Amino acid sequence: MNVPVVYHADYYADIGAHVFPTRKFSLVLEAIQRNVGEIMGCLRQPSPATREQLLRIHAPEYLADLDGCRWTPRTSFSELPLTKEIVDAYYLMAGGTCLAASLACQHGGAMNLGGGFHHAFADRAEGFCYVNDVAIAVREIQAQRLVERVAVIDTDLHQGNGTARIFRGDPQVFTFSIHQEDLYPLKEQSSLDIGLEDGTEDDEYLTKLRQGLDVVFGQFKPQFVMYVGGVDPYKDDRLGSLQLTKAGIKQRDTMVFRRCRDHGVPVVAVLAGGYAADVGDTVEMHANTYLALRGTLG
Ligand SMILES: [Zn+2]
Repeated sequence: MNVPVVYHADYYADIGAHVFPTRKFSLVLEAIQRNVGEIMGCLRQPSPATREQLLRIHAPEYLADLDGCRWTPRTSFSELPLTKEIVDAYYLMAGGTCLAASLACQHGGAMNLGGGFHHAFADRAEGFCYVNDVAIAVREIQAQRLVERVAVIDTDLHQGNGTARIFRGDPQVFTFSIHQEDLYPLKEQSSLDIGLEDGTEDDEYLTKLRQGLDVVFGQFKPQFVMYVGGVDPYKDDRLGSLQLTKAGIKQRDTMVFRRCRDHGVPVVAVLAGGYAADVGDTVEMHANTYLALRGTLG
């Protein structure tokens, strides 16, 4: 089965010397092409998120700060430079997550080779996140009346604090985050949080993830899943101290996708974090997420 891949060369933006490797987006596409051969038939190019899509989540005064590249109390929690090129890349990746979500509704699954900016709040930036593409895409597919009940399954090393805050109290959106507990960010309350101790390895991680998925699918019963599959729980990641192996992260991805498939729930995957000492490791694990999705739905 052809699982759509959403990508645009302008996902790349120059952020200077930084732990966040913005060149990973094109490298992940190349890695996927090396693994599965020609994927042109699956490749889709997004347009930037529209103002209407952005405004469903973000405050107009915050978007005005971004448009004007202004440092204000709303943008100052960003740990990135603030240039037009960078802001445009974030708008484009948000459009990419929206497109991937729509495609997933048709095909059962899709992946945006960008996105996953779960630390962005409605009215402010945080970390490496300017706009919360995950939240924007949830509201987009709800607005298209493709689905009502959406679960965000966030397995990035860091808690999805922005997403949790945005959807707090919304009965139609379930936010599940499994993350390293003793680490940035300041925690918000997700629908379900599983905080892991430093040094957590594959077996314990996968056991706890399974328990979390039991709650998501057994109790909430989503009609759609947004999968934020950051690869920073990796043992050689520079920002964390979880101890997952590459094989463990692949099992993690596969466990989520199988659960979606078995319940007939479409899933869209986005990249989120990954800060391995060797960018090649980060790229390989992100590509593995697509291969796991394709292997599960195929
Ligand atoms: Zn992260």
